[in-house]
Amino acid sequence: MERVRFAPSPTGPLHIGGLRTALFNYLYARKHNGVFILRVEDTDQTRKVEGSEEYIHQSLAWCNITPDEDPTKGGEFGPYRQSERKEIYADYIQKLIDNDKAYYAFDSSEELATARDIAEKEKGGFKYNAENRNAFKNSLGLTQQETAQLIEEGNYVIRLKTESDIDVLTSDLVRGTVRVNSNELEDKILMKKDGMPTYHFANVVDDHLMKITTVIRGEEWLPSLPIHQLLYDAFGWDAPKFMHLPLILNPSGKGKLSKRDGDKNGYPVFPMAWNESTGYKENGFLPQAHLNYIAQLGWSLGEKEIMSLEEMEKTFDVKAIQKGGARFDYEKAKWVNQQHLAAFGESILIETYPNYFDKLKEAVGDKLIDAVGLIKERLVLLNDVDAESDCFINDPNEYDAKSIKRIAKIDVANVGALLKKGILKNELSELKDFMQQCGEENEIGMGAFMQVLRVAVVGSLSGPNLIPLLTILGKDVTLRRLERLISEQS
Ligand code: GLU
Repeated sequence: MERVRFAPSPTGPLHIGGLRTALFNYLYARKHNGVFILRVEDTDQTRKVEGSEEYIHQSLAWCNITPDEDPTKGGEFGPYRQSERKEIYADYIQKLIDNDKAYYAFDSSEELATARDIAEKEKGGFKYNAENRNAFKNSLGLTQQETAQLIEEGNYVIRLKTESDIDVLTSDLVRGTVRVNSNELEDKILMKKDGMPTYHFANVVDDHLMKITTVIRGEEWLPSLPIHQLLYDAFGWDAPKFMHLPLILNPSGKGKLSKRDGDKNGYPVFPMAWNESTGYKENGFLPQAHLNYIAQLGWSLGEKEIMSLEEMEKTFDVKAIQKGGARFDYEKAKWVNQQHLAAFGESILIETYPNYFDKLKEAVGDKLIDAVGLIKERLVLLNDVDAESDCFINDPNEYDAKSIKRIAKIDVANVGALLKKGILKNELSELKDFMQQCGEENEIGMGAFMQVLRVAVVGSLSGPNLIPLLTILGKDVTLRRLERLISEQS
């Protein structure tokens, strides 16, 4: 049974990278009929941000990514919030100390800062490890009595005791085997002065106790993998499989996707609103379309780019995960959204997002489905519904200057008068036949009729299919709009 986990730290809102990690974990679990866990890694009290855990729950709920086990619904391996697992970590750190795999260190921050300064000047870098740990104040060099005394004072951390000069082999499903010499590593702090575990320690203990089979996370954690491997070895545990997902780059491909870049170039980086920033939801993205785009950041979907969550669950394939950074493309994200919107049946679209269609419904009543049918293909975002519905609701506010220029050569008074007659005498749905015939008699092209009518009714040369639009508007509205154009443009 595969068990995977999404393990965010509640240090702010979920961003695109975090949501992608959640999605890939979820897809992996569903693909393998496994279990998807949400674990909140909140051991760093100084970085905790109020409201971010709720935000994570709400964003996953918006996206329909439902954890099987999480801090609110619980599960067999809880608690799922690390701040509630302190006793567990205390037990496990003791095991490492008893087995000489970890030790107490009493160095003050000033002492460490001085050592760091000197090492940086002399060697270009500082590492607290087998090479120099004797020079520091820790239980490996002090007597039992001295150690006990200092522990009593309470001002200590617990560090991992790394061996000197051994090969640490790690394996990643995307990158294969990675080999690091332990001299490159540090005796990482496992327990902090405040009695809380560090990320590395809590993460490994929890992944083991929660029976995680595959760890799927962002590439930024790859450098930590050898330390994690050493921790698994220290406990004598088998490590899970690992899959590190490629970085998400900003649209220029230079550097990581950032909120600053999003603010500057007008695209959201959060799924939902956070403080003064709007998210994908508020910008009119469908959650399934947002996920479908995000899935493409690092996963080559192949020919079939447009997929529902269920389809992605079936087709998710570790082998199709790329190593190289994935460039974010907002235009593509919008295109994917447009494809999802277009694929909706009208009534389901209205049922699923009723609020967006309230005004249109008020204007067209029982012709709502027809009206939505006309605008649906034109929507890129749900937020476009307002602008696209406008011609069903309001007479044009003003005429689009470019469109007026394009019809400048047409005799609007004459064409308009003929159109008026045609509208009065014919069913609106048969207006094309009339234009055809009347056009032949008066040597007026079909295009001239259509353009005048379109500018009159919509205010510009764009807009939904014209004749069906007129049949929804009815003759009174069509004539009123036509007369106005004639009077203003003749
Ligand atoms: N808490 C880490 C984060 O915020 C999780 C890293 C991991 O998945 O191991 O990204």
